[in-house]
Amino acid sequence: MRGILTVFAGPMFAGKSAHLLSDYPDDAATLCLAPAFDTRSGAQIKSRVGLSRAARSVSSWPEDFAAYRHILLDEGHFMIAPHYKGDVARDIERALDKGVNVTVAGLDTDYRREAFVVMDRLRALADHYVPLTARCHRCGAPAAWTAKKRPTGHLLETGDEDLYEARCDTHWQSPD
Ligand SMILES: [Zn+2]
Repeated sequence: MRGILTVFAGPMFAGKSAHLLSDYPDDAATLCLAPAFDTRSGAQIKSRVGLSRAARSVSSWPEDFAAYRHILLDEGHFMIAPHYKGDVARDIERALDKGVNVTVAGLDTDYRREAFVVMDRLRALADHYVPLTARCHRCGAPAAWTAKKRPTGHLLETGDEDLYEARCDTHWQSPD
């Protein structure tokens, strides 16, 4: 039977990683992957609500993927060149074909409100696509966008509230 792909997408601070960690069992049949690029939390998936779980840092799809029943992938938007070797959407399809369930959390858009193409492709493949919103850091309204608080010259850059905020339509603005 084909595996099921679930995608949690939204801006930063929307609880994407928390869904990944709280909705699925922490057992030997579940493999957690995090991009090697994101060194903030070492080899673990960590959510801002205090949940964490050991993860394998990867820059390509794990060769032993078929040994697991479920693969959880955090920060899916980072799984692109030059940080990821290969095509993660195709790699996920291979896993689904083998009957492995895959669940991905990631940003749907960058801080300029431009789509992460890889997340668009995963949305198209997903059996369940779950759009999440955060709370606007300015007004508390539902926030669909990530804003960068100052220009840094880097598009892909990890950071926390020091660098990013969630913003509603009214309060989002480009740092550039
Ligand atoms: Zn607002």
